[in-house]
Amino acid sequence: MLPGGPGTGGAGVRERIVAGNWKMHGSRDFVRRWAGDFRPGTGSTTVLLIPPVVLLSGLVDACGERGVEYGVQTIHPEPEGAFTGEISAEMAADAGAGWTLIGHSERRLHHHEDDAAVAARFGAARRAGLRPVLCVGETLDQRRAGSAAEVVLRQLHAVTQQAGADFAEAVVAYEPVWAIGTGETATPEQAQEMHALLRDALRRLAPEFDRVPLLYGGSVKPENAAALFAQPDVDGGLVGGASLDATAFGAIVAASDAG
Ligand code: PEP
Repeated sequence: MLPGGPGTGGAGVRERIVAGNWKMHGSRDFVRRWAGDFRPGTGSTTVLLIPPVVLLSGLVDACGERGVEYGVQTIHPEPEGAFTGEISAEMAADAGAGWTLIGHSERRLHHHEDDAAVAARFGAARRAGLRPVLCVGETLDQRRAGSAAEVVLRQLHAVTQQAGADFAEAVVAYEPVWAIGTGETATPEQAQEMHALLRDALRRLAPEFDRVPLLYGGSVKPENAAALFAQPDVDGGLVGGASLDATAFGAIVAASDAG
C-alpha cells in the first residue's frame, strides 16, 4: 500500500467526469460523423470533449448543448504575443472551451513542459476562467524504481503550491505513462491505490480540495471502465484512443452514469 492508506471514497458526492482527448486525430468530416453517432448519457456525468483546436468550433456546432462541455489540449501561459503556433487560454475560451488539459505526459515528453511550465499554464487557465485538468503520472521505469508516489506528488504539489485556494476548481487525472495508448491498463486496484494517495494529499492541503475529482487515464475502454469507475476514489476517466469511437465513448460515459 502506498502512503495515504486505503481509499476513503466519497466519490458519490464528487462530480463524475468522462473526458475524451482526441489528441491529433480527426477532420471536419470525422466531427460530423462522430456527432451523429454519439448518444449522450443520463446527465449524471459531466462529458468533456477535447478535440484538436482547429476542430473545436465545428464540434461545438455539431454537438451543441447536448450535455457536453468542451476543452483544449494545451494553452500557452501568455494571453497573447509573438508565440507562433500557440493559442492562449483566452482564445480557447473565446472559441467555446470551458476546460483545458495541462501537464499531459505527451506535452511533458515531446514539448519539454516541466513542472514550472505546467504550473504557469494552470495560472493562465484560471485567468481566462477555464477549468484545468492536471495530468500526473509516472513512467514504467519510475514505477519499477519504486518512485511512482514521489513522482505524482511532486507533479501535484508543483501546481498546488502556486495555485493556492484556486486549486479547488481543478480536476486531477492520474495517467500512468506506461498505460497511455499502449493497451496496458492499470488494474482497478493499482488505480485506486494511486487515487487514494492523491486524495489524501489533497485533503492534507485543504479540506475544500476533497471535492476535486480524480480521473483515471490509460487505455480506458468500455470493457474496463465499470471496474475502474467502481473504485471509491476514481471519479471518472480521461479517455484517449477509445474516445475516437463515439459508440465506445458513449459506453464509457454510460459506465460512469451507472457507477
Ligand atoms: C490520454 O490521451 O490521456 C490517454 C489516456 O490515452 P489512451 O486512452 O489512448 O491510453
